[in-house]
Amino acid sequence: MKHTHRISTSFLALIAVSLVCVVFSQDAGQNLPETHGIQIANMDRSLKPGDNFYEYANGAWIKRTEIPNDRAGVGVFSVLDDLATKRTADLIEEASKSNAPAGSPERKIADLYNSYMDEAGIEARGLAPIKPHLDAIAAIHDKKELAYVLGAGLRADVDPLNNTNFHTPRLFGLWSAPDFSDSAHYTAYLLQGGLQLPDREYYLSDSEHMRKVRAAYQTHIAAILKLAGFSDTDARAAAILELEHKIAEKHTSLEDDQDIHKANNPWKQSDFANKAPGLDWTEFFRGAELSKQANFIVWQPGAFTGESALVASEPLDTWKDWLAYHLIEGFAGVLPRPLAEERFAFFGRTLYGVPQQRPRAQRGVYVVNGLLGDDVGRIYAQRYFSPEAKAQGDAMVRNIVAAFRKRIDALVWMNPATKAEAKAKLNSLYVGIGYPESWHDYSGLEIKADDIFGNLWRASLFDYHFAIGRLGKNVDRKEWSMTPQTVNAVNLPLQIALNFPAAILQPPFFDPKAPAVVNYGAIGSVIGHEISHTFDTEGSTFDSTGALRNWWTPEDLKHFEEATGKLAAQYDTYQPFPDLHVNGKQTIAENIADLGGICASYDGYRASLYENGGKGKPGPEQDGFNSDKQFFIAFAQNWGSKEREAALRQQVMTDEHSPAEYRSATVRNVDAWYAAFDVKPGETLYLAPPDRVRIW
Ligand SMILES: [Zn+2]
Repeated sequence: MKHTHRISTSFLALIAVSLVCVVFSQDAGQNLPETHGIQIANMDRSLKPGDNFYEYANGAWIKRTEIPNDRAGVGVFSVLDDLATKRTADLIEEASKSNAPAGSPERKIADLYNSYMDEAGIEARGLAPIKPHLDAIAAIHDKKELAYVLGAGLRADVDPLNNTNFHTPRLFGLWSAPDFSDSAHYTAYLLQGGLQLPDREYYLSDSEHMRKVRAAYQTHIAAILKLAGFSDTDARAAAILELEHKIAEKHTSLEDDQDIHKANNPWKQSDFANKAPGLDWTEFFRGAELSKQANFIVWQPGAFTGESALVASEPLDTWKDWLAYHLIEGFAGVLPRPLAEERFAFFGRTLYGVPQQRPRAQRGVYVVNGLLGDDVGRIYAQRYFSPEAKAQGDAMVRNIVAAFRKRIDALVWMNPATKAEAKAKLNSLYVGIGYPESWHDYSGLEIKADDIFGNLWRASLFDYHFAIGRLGKNVDRKEWSMTPQTVNAVNLPLQIALNFPAAILQPPFFDPKAPAVVNYGAIGSVIGHEISHTFDTEGSTFDSTGALRNWWTPEDLKHFEEATGKLAAQYDTYQPFPDLHVNGKQTIAENIADLGGICASYDGYRASLYENGGKGKPGPEQDGFNSDKQFFIAFAQNWGSKEREAALRQQVMTDEHSPAEYRSATVRNVDAWYAAFDVKPGETLYLAPPDRVRIW
């Protein structure tokens, strides 16, 4: 089973942890649309829609667009991100000039930004800010002290369900979220960690590409240590890489990570010593300020057993070097320039293929968004999201939800009791449009204008204290997990909630001035995508209260698996590189959501033609394209994008989302698409009616 929720790969997510290696950046790429409707100038009308619908809808844009030097890729998402970033940069500049009183959100925003921009101060301070922390690592005498320090390093930096972030370079990661079996209260989830590279495959794969990456990584570790004043750096780098390799061997695969049923492992604190001997857990939890927390859910028990044993078996000095290297790496972006540049050289250039780092001012915006996201978001939403847009978005949601309800009623394979629970789930769904109803309070976070290192350190600790402070307390189902200035959308399965931030409710996804059909094809399909997650393999694991309880019958599941197996096989046939094909299993949840989303949104659009006394008459043609054609072209134009090979390879290997081209190709499963474009047998995307996958 798969459990993934964001609508799109977010390379920007990296900033939240590392603050350094942003690979999508600004000031480049396509211009925002001038026309209100589908983007005719982006199409390649010389192609047959049935042969390559993606390039038919986006081909001219692909031909004329070059990936800027400071990016891993470019597309609709990054263009909208440019817009949101530009607006956020303006807000920050205004905050800087406003001379706001100490402690006010505006003053914090300004001070944080200025502290990141203060390159002269960063150079002048040198390694002084990190020195006390390195000294503390150097002073570790034994494995007991090591356990305390490893615990003190725990942060709330993973989120396996909402933002699908399974990665932390810290030994383990904490997620504070509704309990699988009691969704009304927050509990503590613990996840595997310890690797700097994105996934265990980077350490274990025998491919030539990965062997090269590993060699470059070892050189990079040595360079970082040398710049930080360590001796004997080649040998130490080799030992650190070897330790990470051993950790990687204990890690579970991304595919297993996504299986909720493998993740629901309640452990008492007292279980850890027996189930995962090696690490001194009492000291670990003391360091993590979790001594009093009795209950945990351990996502990957095997990794906890394995990593804990490694704490015992591997030399103390290697662990101390691993800690020091990880600490320096995590903050290299705000340390003197040679360290920051070395970090980008490896994580930006080698790992993602980005030739050049973005301007510092743009990275500063991400730092502010990462640390004070809701303070920025409150101002952003007031300024950039009109009540009219919110009303229109709400109306689309109502129509698409109603379409889903009808589709559920019409399913022949789903049994009546299951249908009733599905509809109960629809009734309790909270759909947030634009911005949240309440905001995070950062008043307890100290921000100093001349201390970027301290600001980052305190902010991650502040987040952590917020996360552990609410353990055992009541869940706020209306809490958002994305800020309004984020270009993405998200399904929060334990909260039975969806968030559609203001920044994605922008042209070309959503334009209050565009024909309704274009909005349904574009953002409507995204809304449908998120709703469909509520019922799919992952949705079936959470009932209408958000509790982990399978509400499907075995027959329901059998039919569903047959249908989804066909879709997985369809995606396995897509081959972006001769040596690499899309993993239909790894991407199945997202592919189902794309298909369910487009179908429900198409129905929602059809239903909208009868709103306000309408008699079902479609809107006018645009440049010879009738309404149905506009719907599907708008859908495919959601996915217009170009990526560098290294970034695309990483996506295919590690991401739950298929590459953009194949996401748009799901139209081949939709009958209305064949009718709209008169697609015939023999054309590349043509599927005979029995071969089209129908799930929802
Ligand atoms: Zn999704």
